[in-house]
Amino acid sequence: MSVHPGPAFWEHSITCSYLFLKEVPDYTPLGPAATSVNKRTFVKLLSAAVASPIVAPLLAWMTDGKLKNWAGNVEYSTEQLYSATSLEQVKQFVQKQKSLKVLGTRHCFNKIADSTSQFLSLKAMDQDVVLDPQARTVTVAAGMSYGQLCPFLDSKGFALHNLASLPHISIAGACSTATHGSGDKNGNLATAVSALEMVTAAGEVVHLSRQQDLETFCGAVVGLGALGVITKLTLDMQPRFMMQQYVYENMTLSELKEHFDAIESAAYSVSLFTDWQKEHINEVWLKNRLDGGRTLDAPKEFFGAKRASRNLHPIAALPAENCTEQLGVPGPWYERLPHFRMGFTPSAGKELQSEYFVAREHAIEAILAVERLREQVAPSLMISEIRAIAADDLWMSPCYKQPCVTIHFTWKQDWPSVSRLLPVIERELAPFNPRPHWGKLFTMTPAQLRSSYEKLSAFVQLSRKYDPQGKFRNEFLNTNVFAGS
Ligand SMILES: Cc1cc2nc3c(=O)[nH]c(=O)nc-3n(C[C@H](O)[C@H](O)[C@H](O)COP(=O)(O)OP(=O)(O)OC[C@H]3O[C@@H](n4cnc5c(N)ncnc54)[C@H](O)[C@@H]3O)c2cc1C
Repeated sequence: MSVHPGPAFWEHSITCSYLFLKEVPDYTPLGPAATSVNKRTFVKLLSAAVASPIVAPLLAWMTDGKLKNWAGNVEYSTEQLYSATSLEQVKQFVQKQKSLKVLGTRHCFNKIADSTSQFLSLKAMDQDVVLDPQARTVTVAAGMSYGQLCPFLDSKGFALHNLASLPHISIAGACSTATHGSGDKNGNLATAVSALEMVTAAGEVVHLSRQQDLETFCGAVVGLGALGVITKLTLDMQPRFMMQQYVYENMTLSELKEHFDAIESAAYSVSLFTDWQKEHINEVWLKNRLDGGRTLDAPKEFFGAKRASRNLHPIAALPAENCTEQLGVPGPWYERLPHFRMGFTPSAGKELQSEYFVAREHAIEAILAVERLREQVAPSLMISEIRAIAADDLWMSPCYKQPCVTIHFTWKQDWPSVSRLLPVIERELAPFNPRPHWGKLFTMTPAQLRSSYEKLSAFVQLSRKYDPQGKFRNEFLNTNVFAGS
């Protein structure tokens, strides 16, 4: 979750892009590009081309003349940013580069997206969308964000199975890092992917699908940006559904401990927010599906927690206007699954985030282990969130073959303090074999990381097939994934 919503540019971007979202009627999902080859657009930031509709949004990524991530804690190692507007441009550009990284919406807190040479943005390729109502799939251009896609899908009578805490993230970036929401039965967002189109290091276009290439496909979906440039993704859809969200305050840890499974399965998506103080969970967010037109009359108490009588921010002291509607007001799936609303007034994003996945069977022990650190954690913490995620088959997903619980930390933006805390937390969680979120901050050693992914060497082999020279690798990947393999 986020305490602070993202930069102003994205609010604008969501509104505009939705208006221009374009259905492509005779477009073959994952087939050859239907668009004509436009004039190549090279954006060396700080260029004079601010007025260009492609360049201007990319320039909005600059703060203090520097290209940084959303939170501003990572200053990228190059400002060379090429904006492709077609598959053909992607192919040509990739062929010419010795080394590059794709930048999505820059929401990772670590250096997984960093490049010392060259960035490629697909932001200008964020409008094509192909619905296949019969197959119940939608194929999207990889630059698209969930914020752009979801209202459109809903207007056509469809929905995705789950969303993260905010809708501003690119679909390709989110799936590449196993981004997740919550829900006992809900896999991470990448589990909705049924096919993808990718440009390999040689500039060749590869199509992979769950149906035809199961093994390779499972290796490629959570690809950490290491296999190639994803240019299209096909996602499973389901009929649109309505939801109600209720928030309860003050659940004791002992209730949680006694009834963890019942609490987690009480709604379609459950989030537990805690500051770890006073042995309690500050807020329990229950997101219920309203299938069959029913509405729920939620009880006043939920395992000892009291139903809130006003909309709440995960940090109760903060105003809730940026948060999705609560108090049981029915609304569409895409306005209830995230914690934060589309179209909110964003702030600077002054926070850091870390998150650890542990196997579901260790949930309570892991939660109690972190709770024991409450005094150390408190000065740096804004809020923690506990979520549940179903198991999947995606090789580099932290939920590969195991249902997980995640313990998330939204930190004050004070890396010196946070960097001292993370090893302490990681040590406490070590007995439960934690896996850090690929897009958030951690200090676990590469050896620890590598030993916790049984498919890691298969993943390394797969990336060598598509990228033999390591064109798409960077320091983060070389250190955490490829070293020693
Ligand atoms: C405020 C906030 C809230 C968040 N909430 C959640 C949450 O609820 N749950 C959760 O799990 N995570 C959450 N995250 C983390 C976030 O979902 C991930 O960091 C995700 O990767 C962001 O996508 P992005 O496009 O911004 O990624 P970027 O940082 O731009 O890129 C991430 C990786 O994907 C690769 N990539 C991007 N696009 C492509 C492409 N087209 N082809 C190949 N590789 C590509 C990049 O090279 C990089 O390796 C949150 C982050 C923030 C800042």
